[in-house]
Amino acid sequence: LQSNTPESLRVVNLLQERNLLPPSPTPPPTPCLPQDLQKINCNPEVFRSTLTSIPQTQSLLNKAKMPLGLMLHPFKDLSQLPVVTSSTIVRCRSCRTYINPFVSFLDQRRWKCNLCHRVNDVPEEFMYNPVSRSYGEPHKRPEVQNATIEFIAPSEYMLRPPQPAAYLFVLDVSHNAVETGYLNVFCQSMLENINALPGDSRTKVGFITFDSTIHFYNLQEGLSQPQMLIVSDIEDIFLPTPDSLLVNLNECKELVQDLLKSLPTLFQKTMETQSALGSALQAAFKLLSPTGGRMTIFQTQLPNLGVGALQSREDPNQRASAKDIQHLSPATDFYKKLALDCSGQQVSVDLFLLSSQYCDLASLGCISRYSAGTVYYYPSYHHQRNPAQVECFQKDLKRYLTRKIGFEAVMRIRCTKGLSIHTFHGNFFVRSTDLLSLPNVNPDAGFAVQMSIEENLDDLQVVSFQAALLYTSSKGERRIRVHTLCLPVVNSLSDIFAGADVQAISGLLACMAVDRSATASLSDARDAMTNAAIDSLTSYRQSVLTIQQPGLLAPACLRLFPLFILALLKQKAFRTGTSTRLDDRVFAMLQLKYQPLVYSLLMIHPALYRVDDLTDEGALNINERTIPQPRVLQLSVEKLSREAAFLMDAGTVMYLWIGRNCHPNFLSQVLGVPSYAAVPDNLYLLPELDTAESQRTRAFIGWLRDQRPFFPPMHVIREESQLKPTFMQNMIEDRTESALSYYEFLLHLQQQISK
Ligand SMILES: [Zn+2]
Repeated sequence: LQSNTPESLRVVNLLQERNLLPPSPTPPPTPCLPQDLQKINCNPEVFRSTLTSIPQTQSLLNKAKMPLGLMLHPFKDLSQLPVVTSSTIVRCRSCRTYINPFVSFLDQRRWKCNLCHRVNDVPEEFMYNPVSRSYGEPHKRPEVQNATIEFIAPSEYMLRPPQPAAYLFVLDVSHNAVETGYLNVFCQSMLENINALPGDSRTKVGFITFDSTIHFYNLQEGLSQPQMLIVSDIEDIFLPTPDSLLVNLNECKELVQDLLKSLPTLFQKTMETQSALGSALQAAFKLLSPTGGRMTIFQTQLPNLGVGALQSREDPNQRASAKDIQHLSPATDFYKKLALDCSGQQVSVDLFLLSSQYCDLASLGCISRYSAGTVYYYPSYHHQRNPAQVECFQKDLKRYLTRKIGFEAVMRIRCTKGLSIHTFHGNFFVRSTDLLSLPNVNPDAGFAVQMSIEENLDDLQVVSFQAALLYTSSKGERRIRVHTLCLPVVNSLSDIFAGADVQAISGLLACMAVDRSATASLSDARDAMTNAAIDSLTSYRQSVLTIQQPGLLAPACLRLFPLFILALLKQKAFRTGTSTRLDDRVFAMLQLKYQPLVYSLLMIHPALYRVDDLTDEGALNINERTIPQPRVLQLSVEKLSREAAFLMDAGTVMYLWIGRNCHPNFLSQVLGVPSYAAVPDNLYLLPELDTAESQRTRAFIGWLRDQRPFFPPMHVIREESQLKPTFMQNMIEDRTESALSYYEFLLHLQQQISK
């Protein structure tokens, strides 16, 4: 019998095996499906389930004590995407599912829906295969050969003519904003990328600046220079010249460029300390309402004038509190309400927050969260004092301005009859039970959903999930991107455990914990995560293990579960007892909800590598570059050495830790300094030295960065560095004054499980 046990169910005693972390990142588990179905299944980077084997009944799912849900990255940049143009898009007449690789053909003329099981006719047009140019083989059509596909939609998929790409930039120009020097970087980046903004000849663009008043810019064709129009009655915002504020980019490009060149100097001597963000947002909303589009806000301080003004709620003495953290929920519903208005007019709002002081991100963030926007955060941004942040802001802006975008989008997630989605995570507005409203959709957004089993899945071998994203491209085409995932149904607890995806489970639990922190309390959220580990391992012990043995036992597929839960408890979002600024915490929560799973995982459990002894052994070869592949180390100071250098990749940020007795060869050949003492304090760029060591190090870091769309800045850290505590806080396996070590945490779990 033992020989039949799959590797994922191999029993692991966590208290004995101390080196569980695999040396390289673990790939997602493969669903247990027949070869032909698995070969054609959706890419797990796009669509992934917490349980790759779906329980047949809700009571089985309850017994397993693991959450059932899906993680999605639906608009991810893809290297290859089949696009279909067809006058009839074939969909089930009953449940509207798109025909996909997991339907069954009863004969040449009829197909059975894999979601609702209705039998549908194959339309005449579908009998012809445009790829093979042959007739009579409907099962060879691209729609049934690809789990991910995009349709060009006919006119019945639009409520109005496709909107043009429209971009509105709203810029804080208060004294504080001018001090940070961000305007220069923004204008420079706009000038560099103005021809790369997604769009066509209809693209529109506009600008608003604000302090205690709102400033519009008339950019109408024919003017010799941009004209600033100031509205000082912020209680009653009107648009001075509605038609010439949001202008055609192609026709007015020179005026736009003039404005971008002059903006950084316009407010240099400003004495304005106030910030009427609420009124500026209302003005921007009025301007974009007729077309919809993307609104980008740059804010550097707490809004303190007019509607939407906020109070400083943070108590700095409570930053390190071990008790409950206050003010995680918004102070006002102003920003949420405005976001819903924006959503209704197909406007998304992205917020770039560049501030050194508390800004109440818990309130401000609502503007992006409910309008399908994104929050970017650069704490302590300053053009001179913080060069690493400046570089990060520059790189992020380039990606932001040039990445693809979809407008006026909706996404619907369907699943086989019996399964039901009850909770969504991400940035959007839920319009009806399974329809997400996305005024904009961007390729860096992730989503998660939680599901339950409402009707038993008796007699089913497999179930399917289908996400359909309908949007207007920047070229004015209505398109539908469809992803379909197929998974097996099982009726035993051991099969459910065998298919558990520990990374997806941890990612989904993080989303659930963010909600719990706001609706209940942070301590409730922390307890819920710990209980998830206790309950699932208890269930495994009681219902799956046939031979009882002492120790803390887990199936191999869940062997990292306690480690990830402990990492989550020590993550900025959920930690207690360590000083954490409120906005930093709230931002970490926003990221966990909105980022695609692969990026969240690095935020939860950073990857640590030794980098002073990189070799070509086992290296990858990409585009004639040799990329060293050092092994991933456990997050414990035990793994560090004073004689070495280590790179920590925490997803959105990297640290290069230099030991006090680091080998002089690394210092001179990679950092370009003669000694440890000569390592500069604020180092964030590696010099481009013509040495093998330098090339290897830069190739490795560059390769890590290339795998994500945003730019993680890197800080070089000496043992005296101010950032050292930040680095050490990520050593989650070690004990701290306020938190358990990994081993202590395992003992705690064992105690609870054997109760
Ligand atoms: Zn159907």
